[in-house]
Order: sequence, then C-alpha cells, then structure tokens
Amino acid sequence: MIRMPGSSYQGALPPATDEERALEQELHTHVHTLSGQIGERNLFHYDQLLLAAEYIRAEFESTGYVVRKQAFDVSGTTCENIEVEVRGTDRPEDILIIGAHYDSVKGSPGANDNGTGVAAMLVLARQFAHAPASRTIRFVAFVNEEPPFFQTQDMGSWVYAKRSRQRNERLVLMLSLETIGYYSEALGSQSYPPPLSLIYPSTGNFIGFVSNLANSDWVQRAVGNFRQHTQFPSEGAALFGWLPGVGWSDHWAFWKEGFPAIMVTDTALFRDPYYHTAHDTPDHIHYDHFARVTAGLHQVIEDIANKP
Ligand SMILES: [Zn+2]
Repeated sequence: MIRMPGSSYQGALPPATDEERALEQELHTHVHTLSGQIGERNLFHYDQLLLAAEYIRAEFESTGYVVRKQAFDVSGTTCENIEVEVRGTDRPEDILIIGAHYDSVKGSPGANDNGTGVAAMLVLARQFAHAPASRTIRFVAFVNEEPPFFQTQDMGSWVYAKRSRQRNERLVLMLSLETIGYYSEALGSQSYPPPLSLIYPSTGNFIGFVSNLANSDWVQRAVGNFRQHTQFPSEGAALFGWLPGVGWSDHWAFWKEGFPAIMVTDTALFRDPYYHTAHDTPDHIHYDHFARVTAGLHQVIEDIANKP
C-alpha cells in the first residue's frame, strides 16, 4: 500500500512562523540535554539512563502532569517506562498513545535516535496538557528499545503493550516517534530497502509515516492530515512488516499484542549517516525542519484524538 491521500509538499518551505521558531528552541533544548549533556543512556550507562528518566519526569511534572512509572527488572536492574495522561472528555476509554524510546544504542549519544523522538513527545505533551481531547492521550517514554533488548521480553514498549492487553485497554492507536530530526536536500541522500527506491524520492527531505499492511488505514489518515495542514514534504508507506526497517521501533511491540500502531520517522539508517554511531550528536539535527514536523504532528494527533 503505497497510494496515499493528497500529495507531498514540494518547493521552498515558507518562512518559519514565530510559533515554529519557539518550538525549534524548545526541541533544541531537549535534544541537547538528552544527548549533549547526558549522552549515551542505556543499561551499560545506567547512571545516564537514570538521568534521562529524571529529566523526562521533571519536564512532565513542570507541565502539571502526575507522572506514572512502570518499573520492571532486567537481570537485577530496575528499568522504567514513564508516562502521563490527558484524560479524554467524551470517550476517555479510547486511548491514543504517543510513544518514544529514551534509551540510546551502545556507543552512541543518540541525538537523532532517539533524542528527537523524546523531544517531540515532551513538546506535544506540554501542548496537550491543558487542552484535553475527546479521547484520552497518553505520552510514554519507553526504555530498552535498542539492542540487545530489541524485540525481547525486556523491551520497554513490549512490557507496556502486554500490560495494556492484560488490562483490556482500548488502544485506538499507538504512534511511535522514532528518529525524526535528520533532513537533507542533497540528491541521492535517501536510500531504501529494495525495491522501494523505484517508487519513493531519492532526496531525504521528507518525514515518513510507516506501518505494516494491517495498519494501512491509519497511515493514510495520518499522512492525509499532515499534508492538509503542514507545508513540509511527507511520504507514507504501509508495507510488509518483514521488510527491513518497517518494524524497527516500539510500534512493533504493539503489533505483537494486537494493537494498531504506526511509526513516524526520517527513515533513520536509510538517510542519517550518523545513525547508531558516536557521531549521532545534537549538531547534526535540522531543528528548523524538525520543528515544522512536530507542529504537523500536533495536528495529526488532534485529528485522531477528536474525530471518529
Ligand atoms: Zn531508535
């Protein structure tokens, strides 16, 4: 399923609005704190993982949220997912999850992967804190997305999705914000797993919405809404779940438990030359583009959280 509603924005971007410029600063601060100051954060750099968790908690609380933690044990060490919730006004049992993993891969300070996902999640949480929607919105920071925990029992998002299944929660959609800050105007800056390069643009200047075939309706809705409100290039793809990259984030865990889930991504390794290296640093993020994408995601979330 590669046919998407609307068309990707083309041409020069309009001047950034004041709101987008303010957003840019906010995102910049989050990415710099997580990646520049705290740095590599995972079970191998556990103190830094705790610092990142503490930063996320403090940011949530400063917005007025009551923070909940889901703690679990990995070989004697405590790991935590961190979440807040804006209760829905009309359909509180319907839950939309906006998630991003806050660990970084071994050997990397993780600015783009996934400081950017967490930064956008924090910004969106602040924006929706005092603007409840019809449905409940949860903002969740997941631990242990990266190897060696990826797609194992210790993956934070899988622990979370299993609990939602046990509780019989009505998760309308999970939106995984995964590596969303790297953009390039250079021709050939975008690659793909074969045979997608025949269909999609070779310039890595767009934001991508990705899912498996079962969630094609959700990808179409998200891309359609993004294109309606946001003057920024976008592509959507509902593909075989086994294609390289399609299931490579926390949305996979929700699929496993039978929940609808899609990923928002700059395509990570298919574009970002610093992916999973020591050079995934805050200075490689394109904050202007990142801010425009985040503003567009606000509209997408508002649509899904309010409309049938
Ligand atoms: Zn990642």
